Amino acid sequence: MMVHQFKDAPTENNVAWQRFLPTGPIAMLPLSDTESSLVWSTSHQHAEELLQMDEESFVDAINSAFWSNENHSELVETAGSLFRMALSVLMPDSGSARQLPPSVSGIGPKSRVMFPLGMGHATEYIRHRVALIGDAAHRVHPLAGQGANLGFGDVSYLTQVLSQAAYNGKDIGAMQHLLEFETERQRHNLPMMTAIDLMKRLYSSNTAPMVLLRTFGLQATNAVPPLKEQIMAFASKGCHSGMICQLILHM
Ligand SMILES: Cc1cc2nc3c(=O)[nH]c(=O)nc-3n(C[C@H](O)[C@H](O)[C@H](O)COP(=O)(O)OP(=O)(O)OC[C@H]3O[C@@H](n4cnc5c(N)ncnc54)[C@H](O)[C@@H]3O)c2cc1C
Repeated sequence: MMVHQFKDAPTENNVAWQRFLPTGPIAMLPLSDTESSLVWSTSHQHAEELLQMDEESFVDAINSAFWSNENHSELVETAGSLFRMALSVLMPDSGSARQLPPSVSGIGPKSRVMFPLGMGHATEYIRHRVALIGDAAHRVHPLAGQGANLGFGDVSYLTQVLSQAAYNGKDIGAMQHLLEFETERQRHNLPMMTAIDLMKRLYSSNTAPMVLLRTFGLQATNAVPPLKEQIMAFASKGCHSGMICQLILHM
């Protein structure tokens, strides 16, 4: 859905935000200086309630989802602050400054819609003269913003394989070329799907050791630029201009 943000927001609207709540992640992706796209993953019943709310209550619910400290644990907060301080002493020039979460002031007309989410993977992408691409071959949770990117990657590689076959005067529907497409794309898609699923599982837990593990992991990733760059490079592999390449920079 499209949401409007307060015009006097203290920062430019150029950061994608995602907050992991016990019911699922809520994420905001900038579209312009004052508008963002919002994806809220939650239970079916909660989604139904959110759809029924009047606009004011819905905007309040979004802001409280981003700002509320209800689920914070003091132990994790203190440990996180200490770890962040230690990292800034060890690596004074690393990491980016912490920013405040965004505030939402309104929503676009008729922009609230609900979709079922799930994970699915076809064990075979090809049959005689047939190739599955995009969500028909693999469906992932939107928390990493990678679903469409994986599909664009399929299209790009399939086009490359088929053009090469046509250039060499071969039958473009032959299994040999399709098999090359399937092998290469499964080699890319499966690790990405596994990583997204692991991330979803890691963030579904509220137990203190798990919360501490992901807090330390994120802070360390943020403080070590080469590690952060590697993750961003893998996530954006196959992204070309015009694609929806969403990267989570602050969580
Ligand atoms: C809430 C949400 C947020 C997302 N955010 C991101 C993001 O930030 N970044 C990202 O990369 N991905 C994101 N995704 C994933 C992305 O939307 C999908 O991966 C992508 O749309 C899949 O494209 P597709 O063309 O393969 O399939 P689809 O978009 O599902 O298109 C398939 C089309 O085929 C039509 N169709 C189905 N059956 C038939 C039939 N029998 N005859 C004719 N037509 C038929 C359908 O109506 C549909 O129009 C998100 C998904 C959701 C649900």
